[in-house]
Amino acid sequence: MAAVTPKLASFRRVVVKVGSSLLIDSKAGTVNADWLRALAEDLSDFAKRGASVLVVSSGAIALGRTVVKLPAQGPLKLEESQAAAAVGQIALARVWAETLAAVNLTAGQILLTLGDTEERRRYLNARETIGKLLELGAVPVINENDTVATTEIRYGDNDRLAARVATMMSADLLILLSDIDGLYSAPPHKNSSAQLIPLVPRVTAEIEAMAGEAESELSRGGMRTKIEAAKIATAAGTHMVIASGRKLHPVRAIAEKAPCTWFLTPANPVTARKKWIGGALEPKGAIHVDAGAVAALRRGKSLLPAGVVKISGAFARGDAVLIRDPEGSEIGRGLVAYDSADAERLKGQNSERIEAILGYRGRSEMVHRDDLALAGE
Ligand code: GLU
Repeated sequence: MAAVTPKLASFRRVVVKVGSSLLIDSKAGTVNADWLRALAEDLSDFAKRGASVLVVSSGAIALGRTVVKLPAQGPLKLEESQAAAAVGQIALARVWAETLAAVNLTAGQILLTLGDTEERRRYLNARETIGKLLELGAVPVINENDTVATTEIRYGDNDRLAARVATMMSADLLILLSDIDGLYSAPPHKNSSAQLIPLVPRVTAEIEAMAGEAESELSRGGMRTKIEAAKIATAAGTHMVIASGRKLHPVRAIAEKAPCTWFLTPANPVTARKKWIGGALEPKGAIHVDAGAVAALRRGKSLLPAGVVKISGAFARGDAVLIRDPEGSEIGRGLVAYDSADAERLKGQNSERIEAILGYRGRSEMVHRDDLALAGE
């Protein structure tokens, strides 16, 4: 049976990645404003349906480099691109804020580094902030924090960054808007018989080989980084689609069956995340809870400090911990919002007292239900 491509209207949380070559006219060093306005209208379609939208936007370096009189094209030294990004990111954020405001959306800028998505403690912080923005109805506009990201600690391409953001936020769809309409059986500029692959049920070695090393002038990511992104996304329950942004309303075009490549995931983001929490992580300690907390957890609630009776082990915020019932049996695992010292001070306490006890306003939950995998779940 041929797999069917999903309907855009069925997604609840969508990350849209926009490449520099679409957003910026590289010769003039200016934003393609008409194009961006049309894209913003597409994004508002999601919002109107009640879906949440996140944007990962490149373009800081491309916008900034001409302003500081660096060559408009060609590779830059790391410190030059950092300086260009410092100048360009301000303009980029402003353009997004204004363009989204015109379709009644509020933009919130988030600049991330590799550590924010890969280190668990910082990962929880980033997830929480972005989650709050979404809850408040704003559209996070995300880029890598290029001015502080050095070679060893940077993504360098927004394809993989977007995939990590999508999985971190349990998005069910990632759209990569690119200067090419999808994955071809061979790099199309080198091979005229190359065919567009409309659907990739699984990223195999054969699929990876098709990507070649294609690169466009402005964007760092060629097809290679897009395939890497597909691997990250589909392993964590996020579908991905690569589509051409070289037209107005590129997202509507996907819904209207424009050529594109879908990468399907067999999982869904929530189950994939719970599986990751439940299985892949090494627990650093345990939180012993009372019978009331066990019952609340089974009803799908978060673990509050009030239900905690004992802390064992030494752990940091964001570490995986075991949750044990009054008999000492493991009932699940979760990512803990406090380190073991703070957890010790909070155990048995009402969440309203957290600030008085710790001197700062931490999370009301010891382990949020999104960060919790119960045994048998
Ligand atoms: N973060 C870079 C920028 O804003 C872009 C990276 C990419 O093109 O993937 O210029």
